[in-house]
Amino acid sequence: MKCRSCGHKLTRVFLDLQHSPPSNSFLTSEMLSQPETYFPLCVYVCESCLLVQIDECAVSHDIFNAGYVYFSSYSEAFVKHAQEYVQHITEMLSLNKDSMVYEAASNDGYLLQFFKQAGIPCCGIEPSKSVADVAIKKGIPTEVEFFTASFASQLSLVKGKADLFLGNNVMAHVPNLNDFIAGIKFILKPTGVATLEFPHLLHLIECLEFDTIYHEHYSYFSLLALQTAFQRHGLKIFQVKELPVHGGSLRIYVTHSDSPRAIDATVLKVVRDEKQLGLDTMDAYSGFQVKVDSLCREFIQFLVEKKREGAKIAGYGAAAKGNTLLNYCGIKPHLIDFVSDITPAKQGKFLPGSHIPVYGEDKLIEEKPDYIVILPWNWKDSIIQRLDYTRAWGAKFITPIPNVDMF
Ligand SMILES: [Zn+2]
Repeated sequence: MKCRSCGHKLTRVFLDLQHSPPSNSFLTSEMLSQPETYFPLCVYVCESCLLVQIDECAVSHDIFNAGYVYFSSYSEAFVKHAQEYVQHITEMLSLNKDSMVYEAASNDGYLLQFFKQAGIPCCGIEPSKSVADVAIKKGIPTEVEFFTASFASQLSLVKGKADLFLGNNVMAHVPNLNDFIAGIKFILKPTGVATLEFPHLLHLIECLEFDTIYHEHYSYFSLLALQTAFQRHGLKIFQVKELPVHGGSLRIYVTHSDSPRAIDATVLKVVRDEKQLGLDTMDAYSGFQVKVDSLCREFIQFLVEKKREGAKIAGYGAAAKGNTLLNYCGIKPHLIDFVSDITPAKQGKFLPGSHIPVYGEDKLIEEKPDYIVILPWNWKDSIIQRLDYTRAWGAKFITPIPNVDMF
C-alpha cells in the first residue's frame, strides 16, 4: 500500500479501529435479516510526507450512491457557518456579477444559495444525484460529477475558470488527492483563490477525536502534509484560518505559487503549533491507539453503570462519526435504546453495525430518557440549546469525547 500523496510505502499504523460497516449505510428493517458488509478501518501515517490516511477499501462511487442521506440544510449551525463564509470571501476577493465560483461537493446548495442571492455566478459539483437534485430544484446550477482534473478542464471550457473554488469537508473524501489538486490548479484563474476546509489533524490527536475517522474519510490533514501536496502542483497555501467547526478545522487559502500574494503569519503560526505537538516527526502519532482504547473503556463503563441503575439512554444525531464510536466500542441497543435525528431520510432506519433504531425527536418526548448522548459532539452547544425542553424531565446530556462529560 502506497501513500496517496507522495507514493511512499505505508508501513506505520497510526490507529487500528478493526472492522466496521460504512458509516452512512443506514439499514431498513428488512436489511436487518441480511448479512452486513464490514471493511477494515486502519489508519496509517506516511513517514515521508506525513499524510495520515486509510486504505481505500470501499470504492467512493459505492458510498456516495443515490441513497446517500446527508442533507446539509438540515443542520442549522452548518448553514449559518456557510452564510458567514460567503460574506467574508465576497469581501476579501471583491466577488461580483462578473466572477465565477465553483464548489466541490456542493451538497444540496446550502452554501451556494448565498452566492446566488448576492447575484454572483456559481456552479456546484456534487457526485450524489439525490442531493444534487435538491440544489437544482432550488435553482442552483449543479453538475452531478466528482471533481477531478479531467472534469475541471471540461468545466472550465464550458463555464470559464474560477475566481473562487471552494471545497468544504471534501478533500478527506477524495481517493486520488493528486488528481483533485491538479484540478484546482487547472480551474483557477491566474488571480483565482481556492479555499478548503477540513478537520485539523492537530485537534484530532490533541482531543482524541478518533470518531471523525471512517471509511469515507481517506485522509486526515496537517498543514505540513498539505503544504507538500500543493507545492507539488505549483500551488501555495498563503493564509490559514482556524475554525471551531467539527471539533477544530482549518480553512486554507490557496493560490498559484507565482502569485504576488505573500504567505502570511497565520500559516507560520499553524506550522509552529504542529511542530510543537510533534507532527513533523513520528512523536505525535505514537501512543494514540492506547489513548483511544482507554477512552472507549471509560465510555462503555459509563453506559453499563447507568444501565445497571435502570436508566433510559438515548443518542442524539445519527451522524457518521457516531457510528465509528458506537461500532469500535461494540455498543448495541442494550446500552443505547435509540437515536433521535431530525433528518427524515434517516428516521425509521437502523444505524449500521450497532443496529440502534433511529427515530425523530418526538421519540425523546415520548420516552423521556434520563441521558442523551450527543453523538455529533461538535454541535454540542446548538443541540443542548435545541433540546432545552428535555430538562423539564431532568434529562442530562453526555458528550463522549475527549472524555465522558455530563451537562
Ligand atoms: Zn506520503
